[in-house]
Amino acid sequence: MMRNREIVCPGCAAVNRTPADKPAGAGKRGRCGNALFNGRPLDADAAMFEHQTRRPAVPMLVTA
Ligand SMILES: [Zn+2]
Repeated sequence: MMRNREIVCPGCAAVNRTPADKPAGAGKRGRCGNALFNGRPLDADAAMFEHQTRRPAVPMLVTA
């Protein structure tokens, strides 16, 4: 059975489901239509941090 990952869009916080056997960066945002990852760190306010850490489908490195 193929499982999906839930990746939170860094732009609009929509949850995107991508197949676990595909590269996560290959997916497109369902709401925005842009790439889920741009290869750069994400500046996140408290609300976006909460969205991102609620569904930790990909490794995260947090700096302050
Ligand atoms: Zn989005």
